[in-house]
Amino acid sequence: MTEATKQAAEAVAETVAKETVEEVRLGPHTVQLRPANGGKYPQANPLLVRGAERTAMIDACLHTSPAEADLLLISHYHEDHTVDAGSCAEVWVHSADAAGVRDQDVFLAAMGIPAEAAAGVLEEFRWAPVPHARAFEDGQVFDLGGGVTITALHLPGHTPGHAGFLVQPDGVAFIGDVDLSSFGPLYSDEDSRLADFRATIEACAGLEATVYATAHHKGPYWDRDEYLQVLADFGRVLETREEAILDLLREGVRTAEEMVGRGVVYRPGRRPAFADRVEESMCAKHLEDLVARGLVAVDQNGAHTLV
Ligand SMILES: [Zn+2]
Repeated sequence: MTEATKQAAEAVAETVAKETVEEVRLGPHTVQLRPANGGKYPQANPLLVRGAERTAMIDACLHTSPAEADLLLISHYHEDHTVDAGSCAEVWVHSADAAGVRDQDVFLAAMGIPAEAAAGVLEEFRWAPVPHARAFEDGQVFDLGGGVTITALHLPGHTPGHAGFLVQPDGVAFIGDVDLSSFGPLYSDEDSRLADFRATIEACAGLEATVYATAHHKGPYWDRDEYLQVLADFGRVLETREEAILDLLREGVRTAEEMVGRGVVYRPGRRPAFADRVEESMCAKHLEDLVARGLVAVDQNGAHTLV
C-alpha cells in the first residue's frame, strides 16, 4: 500500500467510525452516543442532553467532541471519560476528582500510571489538563432550560469523586463506571475505596429511574428488575474476590504483592499488561477492608493473617 492509499484508507476508516456512532434515545431530551464497539474500553458511551437553553454532554470519549456542548459533566477523571475535555467552555467534575482533571501529575499519580506508559496514555486519549474545570458536590443541579435538569449523584469507590447523573424529566440514571460488566467493580486507584464501592452499589440499587445507562457496553436497562439483577451480580464479584483472598490467607499468602497472579482479579495465564499493578492494588484494598472489619490482622512487617 502506498502512503497516499494508506492515508485515504485511514480517512475512510475515520469517516466510517464517525458514521457508526449510534444515537440511542433514552428519553425526550437524552441520547446515548454509542460507538461501533458498544462502548467497550477504550471507548465509552457518553450522553447528550438537550434542554431549551443549553446542551450538556455527560463524559467526553474518543468518538465525541465536547466542544459542541455548552457544558460537559465528567463522571470521573479516568482518561476514557475526559477526551479533549478542555475544548468545552464549561467543564464540571466532582470536587474529589477535580485535581485529577486539572493537573497531569495528580492524574498520573492517582491512577498509578508508570512514567514509561504516561506518554502513550496522554496521546491516545488526547489528554490535557483542564485548569478551568469547576467542582460540583453531591446533589448539585444543572438547569438546561425548559424544565430539563441534571442532578449530580456522588457514587465513590471507582475513584473518590466518581459521580452518576440523573436527567429529569426523562428519568435517565447514568451510573458511569459502575459499569455492570462481568469483570466487576474496579477500584485500583490510589484513593479508590472498597467500602465506598459497596455503599455505591447499594445507592445504585436505590435509584428510581425509567432507564439505567452505564458508561460502557452494558445496558441501557429499561427493566428495573433486570437492572437490579445485573447490579447484584456485579456486586457479588466483590464477595468472590474476598473469598479468594481469604483462601490465599489460609494457604499462608501474606501480602497483596504475593497474591498477584493467583486468580483473585484476573484469571492466571493471559493478562493485560497493566494487570499486575491493578491486581496488587485491588488485593491491597481488600486486605485493608478486611483489617478494618476486624477479620484480618496485619503485623509491623505488613504480613496479614486471619483473626
Ligand atoms: Zn473509570
